[in-house]
Amino acid sequence: MLLNKNYKITQNYDVIIIGGGLGGMTAANKLAKNGRKVLLLEAHDKLGGFATWFYRKGRHIFDVSLHGFPVGMIKTCRKYWSKAIADKIIQLKRVRFINPMYQLETDFTVDDFTSKLINNFKVSSEQVDNFFQLIMNMNYYDNKEMTNGELLESFFPGRKDVHRFLIEPIVYANGSTMEDPAITYGIVFSNFMSKGVYTFEGGTDLVIKMMQEELLNNNVDIRLRSKVEKIVMNNNVCQGVLVDEGFVGSKAVLSNGNLIGTIFNLVGTENFTPSFLEKVKKVRLNTSSCQVYMGIKEGEAIDDAGDLIFYSEAKEFRADELLSMNTTSRTFSLYYPRLRPQLKNAGYSIVSSTNARYEDWINLSKEEYKLKKEELIAATLTSLEKVIPGVGKKIDYIEAATPLTIKRYTHHEKGSSFGTKHEGLEISMKLHKEISGLFHTGSVGIIMSGWLGAANYGVIQSYEVESYLEKL
Ligand SMILES: Cc1cc2nc3c(=O)[nH]c(=O)nc-3n(C[C@H](O)[C@H](O)[C@H](O)COP(=O)(O)OP(=O)(O)OC[C@H]3O[C@@H](n4cnc5c(N)ncnc54)[C@H](O)[C@@H]3O)c2cc1C
Repeated sequence: MLLNKNYKITQNYDVIIIGGGLGGMTAANKLAKNGRKVLLLEAHDKLGGFATWFYRKGRHIFDVSLHGFPVGMIKTCRKYWSKAIADKIIQLKRVRFINPMYQLETDFTVDDFTSKLINNFKVSSEQVDNFFQLIMNMNYYDNKEMTNGELLESFFPGRKDVHRFLIEPIVYANGSTMEDPAITYGIVFSNFMSKGVYTFEGGTDLVIKMMQEELLNNNVDIRLRSKVEKIVMNNNVCQGVLVDEGFVGSKAVLSNGNLIGTIFNLVGTENFTPSFLEKVKKVRLNTSSCQVYMGIKEGEAIDDAGDLIFYSEAKEFRADELLSMNTTSRTFSLYYPRLRPQLKNAGYSIVSSTNARYEDWINLSKEEYKLKKEELIAATLTSLEKVIPGVGKKIDYIEAATPLTIKRYTHHEKGSSFGTKHEGLEISMKLHKEISGLFHTGSVGIIMSGWLGAANYGVIQSYEVESYLEKL
């Protein structure tokens, strides 16, 4: 049931899920399908977490994180959601790269990447095959010593253009750097590369609506605008949560909030062993993002310029250039009316995304913050004009979001776009060993984030919750 914000919850649940991101929702659906009594509490006024959208001027719809996900999302949706949801997943046909080193277009499949490496970059087919063979077989439990930089240099020595081509999309996709373990790059890259990049026909609003309906059909109780303040424990056994100053009891709690926020704010350090906390303190957060949302005037159209464009004016690729406030590197996601065939008057919109550091934005005065946002918008428009000449005159709505916006809406520490770095995974998975009945799901590490990673991790953690409940 969709519970009203003022509804006083008096019953106890098998599981309370804190947060309705893709991880929390998928876990909720799986547990409810198993017959568990599930309450899903979401702080925001809609489900989805980062998988979100918003309207402006009544007609512009902006998707925040629907830029592309791997083909595996089809299987995950079919298995853990519904065939109807899975059937709406479609391939992005035109992925473009525009930078001073190369300009090319790909469908982002392993075959096309192989052909581009051989024909455009003149790399030998043997080198390419060996590279793909290694990364396609990478496994999370393999050796983590080798870094991304070392991996690329060992296969393509001195080929900065090839390194850029291979790593730049992944840096956008999950904030990884040349210093991160190659294993995390390999797994994500091979996931993305198997059969291209996909999106959801109908937009984020439709997929989340369908997921919410599915949750309600499976008897999940959902309450929006309900920020959990504390997880309640007795002798290190989870008892439920405090929400709106009221207690709601449950046998287990699964937090889909940021891992660090869950440990430090919702539970409190006094409840963990010192050795566990030592490990937690070493967990690094991923970086954040800025976005610029641009809506095209009613009646205006733009020609098909591609679906996803990796644009940069930087002569060479450097991960720190991508993160800098003055970066010239950004992705443009173009949304044509065909994305939302269910709407009669769907328009065109463009979303530009850049990687960003929370620290660069939090320390600005109010005036500086406003100015930096204006500069971000101006720089974005200048770049976009080079890709789609004349587009500026067709835009009638423009707005920017920063790491502070992300923090405000999702409560992620430092507005982290992809949760924590890979060391967060072990902490997330071992939370229940510190506090019985407390579990975590959501963006940790590079593998368990993004639309597919978050949904799959929700399933993995639902099995953990299920096995705990069975033992009770
Ligand atoms: C700008 C941007 C672009 C992206 N683009 C892509 C992309 O193209 N492809 C892709 O695959 N991935 C993309 N991602 C990443 C992807 O969207 C996320 O990894 C994924 O959606 C995260 O899901 P999650 O389960 O971790 O939950 P989150 O999305 O983090 O949601 C957590 C939810 O918990 C709620 N919550 C937190 N604390 C509380 C509390 N105390 N009480 C109640 N509720 C609480 C929050 O409000 C939120 O709704 C992008 C992310 C960003 C920021």
